[in-house]
Amino acid sequence: ISFHQLFISKPLVKACQDLEYDHPTVIQRKVIPAIIEGNDILAHAVTGSGKTASYLLPIMEKYLRLRASNKASLGKLRYLILQPTRELAAQSYSMCQNLSKYLPQDSFNTSVVFGGSSLGHQKRELENQPDMVIGTIGRILDHIHNTKGFTLENVDILVLDEADKLLEMGFKDELLEILKNCSNPKRQTLMVSATLNQDIKELAQLALKQALQFTV
Ligand code: AMP
Repeated sequence: ISFHQLFISKPLVKACQDLEYDHPTVIQRKVIPAIIEGNDILAHAVTGSGKTASYLLPIMEKYLRLRASNKASLGKLRYLILQPTRELAAQSYSMCQNLSKYLPQDSFNTSVVFGGSSLGHQKRELENQPDMVIGTIGRILDHIHNTKGFTLENVDILVLDEADKLLEMGFKDELLEILKNCSNPKRQTLMVSATLNQDIKELAQLALKQALQFTV
């Protein structure tokens, strides 16, 4: 099976070819069509499975479709990816840049935000209304509280990547605060976790609606 058969369109397929992704991985085959259809997802997948592209590709595909249907309403923060560490945030940002390189010019602007880098610079970036933000929980909360015009109320798709790590690091309350800020009732939520313990199931209960669960 090819990416094309998973409803991924040309500019994204081309980027996959450049990265030598010859075929979708198992998790990608399962998750990509389900995300495009609009489902909430609980994916039981580890690093190395291709989990990052399994949510980035369908998010970009949905963005392309939205852009084709009504350009006027673009220019809002629609996609938010939470990562447990700076390193993971930086890695997924870099994958995002690789996958989005053939999208139409001046579209799909992404910012990455994490502690330890300049708050002022990030603020200016966020004031430019990126389509997607990838970041760590603490720094995203900082911006909710301190950056003018930064709001999560238009987030259409929220991703909790490595959700088990987010909880292990003690971010439960912060996570709940971010969920509360993502107040769009039509929000689609995707959770990826290497383990499916009781804590993860409880978080899934709070964050997801009628989620489809996939195990690799
Ligand atoms: P991840 O599980 O997201 O951390 O990805 C692990 C590695 O697999 C990364 O280096 C990706 O670039 C790579 N990768 C993701 N999807 C594919 C694919 N379909 N074919 C080959 N490699 C891939």
